[in-house]
Amino acid sequence: MTVSSQGRSLFAASRKVYPRAASGRFRVLKNRVNAVLLTLYFVAPWIRWHRGPGAADQAILLDMSGRRGYFFGIEIWPQEVYYLTGLLVLGAIGLFFATALFGRVWCGFTCIQTVFTDIFVAVERAIEGDRNARIKFDAQPLSAAKLRRKLLKNAVWLVIALLTSWTWLIYFSDAVQSTADLFHGRTSVWMLSMWVVFTASTFLFAGYAREQVCIYMCPWPRFQSAMFDEDSLIVTYEAWRGEPRGKAPKDGDFAGRGDCIDCGLCVQVCPTGIDIRNGSQLACIGCALCIDACNGVMEKIGRPGNLISYDSVTNQVARAKGLPTRLRLVRPRTAIYAAILLAVMIGLAAVLTTRARQTVNILHERSPLYVRLSDGSIRNGYTVKILNMQRKPQDYQLTLAGLDGAQLTVIGYTDEPVDSVKLPVPGDAVGVFRVYVTVPKGAKVGGRTDVDFVFTGLSGGAFMTQESLFAAPAK
Ligand code: SF4
Ligand code: SF4
Repeated sequence: MTVSSQGRSLFAASRKVYPRAASGRFRVLKNRVNAVLLTLYFVAPWIRWHRGPGAADQAILLDMSGRRGYFFGIEIWPQEVYYLTGLLVLGAIGLFFATALFGRVWCGFTCIQTVFTDIFVAVERAIEGDRNARIKFDAQPLSAAKLRRKLLKNAVWLVIALLTSWTWLIYFSDAVQSTADLFHGRTSVWMLSMWVVFTASTFLFAGYAREQVCIYMCPWPRFQSAMFDEDSLIVTYEAWRGEPRGKAPKDGDFAGRGDCIDCGLCVQVCPTGIDIRNGSQLACIGCALCIDACNGVMEKIGRPGNLISYDSVTNQVARAKGLPTRLRLVRPRTAIYAAILLAVMIGLAAVLTTRARQTVNILHERSPLYVRLSDGSIRNGYTVKILNMQRKPQDYQLTLAGLDGAQLTVIGYTDEPVDSVKLPVPGDAVGVFRVYVTVPKGAKVGGRTDVDFVFTGLSGGAFMTQESLFAAPAK
């Protein structure tokens, strides 16, 4: 433990948070968002998408062993991993855009940690009771009844963690086959290990670490404040209206004092256990449950609602001065994010719809760069890779251009040098060929000469030309 020179600990012990159940429109919204996200999450890997015989038929699949990514009609090869980079950029800019508009709406409503923690807390509440009951229950000495309820809670958490983790894994391997393998005891050790790791992470993060993940482990809160400006909508407390706070007046007269009756409900419902009345804080995930709690209190005591509200700093200042307020969604920052978002989306869509489904890579042999044969001719070696990303097989007729007198030899396809050779590549496969290019003695080559490898698709009519070089002794 790190201690000061006075022998005191420099770190405060973490305080267990017992979130109280909240009710109101944001709680309802959170429930609906949770339901939609969890339904999508659990259903998506089971959706089938016919891609032809022998091809993966899962609509959304990141097939690690087959080195392919599938998203409905889109198929991504390892060579096209830049699409994933584009998607990540899209996600990041989308997050910046949402944050600039609505503050930490991602953290409060859609982050996987928030959603799973919400479910785990709901289970805890169902088994151990709401906040006060849980505090009392935890303070009780261990008994058989307490142990039973604790075990039950942990068992339900474990089942949820097992299900959510397995669902995560079947985004990376065929859902139907993998689940059938699981029931027949044929799951690989690797997959079982990953299941254990993800289950343990979900169980610990959502069951025990909870708000600690948001406050101490997640990097996003550290730099999300850079996306805010004074017009971003964030959860704020109207201190000018709430202070000075005090117990609810018995005669209902609020003259000369603030509307906050210091009931503490906004703190009790907070999943991170903070007091929003102390101002905007890193630990506030923007879940808006304190708004629900306070609005309930304001309604009961007959004061105007939204003492805590989703509002901008600009509006708060205007309200305090009695000036008109306005919602400024379109501003330079949001316009720039929206423009970048749109540009990346259009760029990705354009690249996806126009991308070639047959490509060629040619690697010139470097050691040796060339060989002089006994008859005086000069030979260079190449590795030619043809990616046939179509489902059907394709024959490619390879010829050379730009190098006088050059002839081809392809290991396994031609024994003697020829002008042209047919290279077959199965559907959905990469054909790898060892190719030699030879020029006769006396040919006009020296140093490095450009040579074109020309591929003509015999069955599909595709036509590709790939430039390479031919090395020879300097003249
Ligand atoms: S302060 Fe309010 S909005 Fe922020 S995390 Fe707590 S309950 Fe959610
Ligand atoms: S819920 Fe409202 S009234 Fe109660 S302490 Fe919080 S801000 Fe004050």
